[in-house]
Amino acid sequence: MTESKKIWMDGKLVEWGEANVHIMTHALHYGLGVFEGVRCYATEGGGGAVFRLAEHTDRLFASAHIVMMDIPFTKEQVNDATIEVLQANGLTEGYIRPIVFLGAGSMGLLPKDNPVKVAIAAWEWGAYLGEDGLKNGIRVRVSSYLRHHVNSSMTKAKVTGSYVNSILAKREAVASGYDEAIMLDTEGYVSEGSGENIFMVKDGVIKTTALTSVLKGITRDTVMTILADKGCEVREERFTRDELYTADEAFFTGTAAEITPIREVDGRVIGTGKPGPVTTGVQETFFKAVKGQERRYESWLHRF
Ligand SMILES: *Cc1c(COP(=O)(O)O)cnc(C)c1O
Repeated sequence: MTESKKIWMDGKLVEWGEANVHIMTHALHYGLGVFEGVRCYATEGGGGAVFRLAEHTDRLFASAHIVMMDIPFTKEQVNDATIEVLQANGLTEGYIRPIVFLGAGSMGLLPKDNPVKVAIAAWEWGAYLGEDGLKNGIRVRVSSYLRHHVNSSMTKAKVTGSYVNSILAKREAVASGYDEAIMLDTEGYVSEGSGENIFMVKDGVIKTTALTSVLKGITRDTVMTILADKGCEVREERFTRDELYTADEAFFTGTAAEITPIREVDGRVIGTGKPGPVTTGVQETFFKAVKGQERRYESWLHRF
């Protein structure tokens, strides 16, 4: 079981085992909650650095705004609480999960007096798609489940309930012997993974899905910046699954997945079947940046 020592809940630290909610919690029944996934890395000096904390907190508030929930704390309080919870758990490296949700109050689909609850948990978490996946690449399949239509779920918000769709896709992929799912959008173009954005490289052209049905990933933005600084242009445009089948390289990006190479899609080997030069080059810079070894990206770090 995932475990740590303390959780920040509605303004104060509580014991991990006592961070409970009532069974009538609205979000548990109907899925109205928003969350973030944030990572923190140990740096050479011994301290920790939360990666792009301000951007994650901004997106948490944007997600809440989209679904019309007022967070009863300021962004600054959420940022401070994040550091507080890391320190209380003695973590310099780990995963952070802020979550904002509707608590117990009235039932039914029109929430009335339900309080908006806020919690932040943090724990040690290694490579989401495995160390081997990070190094050698993973095998993925195109899911039979589609990514939400832009007017059915709000695709720019990390809303808890929307992830039933991702869980269905992930389970289907794993049950059929793959590591992860690629979801198509409702028009049939490649959208993203169950919780990762996707990039592909073909004949030196780098593409990532445009911001239509996909989440605006902070790692996606990080990778685009790193590539731009290396002098590589990234085209934000739609591509098809068969374009992906014939790509030279492909990789997923996400806070949990970091930068995970894709070595196979639906039984078709991608490129040489090994992570290609664009992928490994981005990975190298990314892992240096998060650990504070790249001066030009120092502004992405919230050191503590
Ligand atoms: C969180 C998430 C991502 C990755 O976003 P990051 O900001 O890079 O962590 C991509 N797609 C979906 C559906 C997600 O939930």
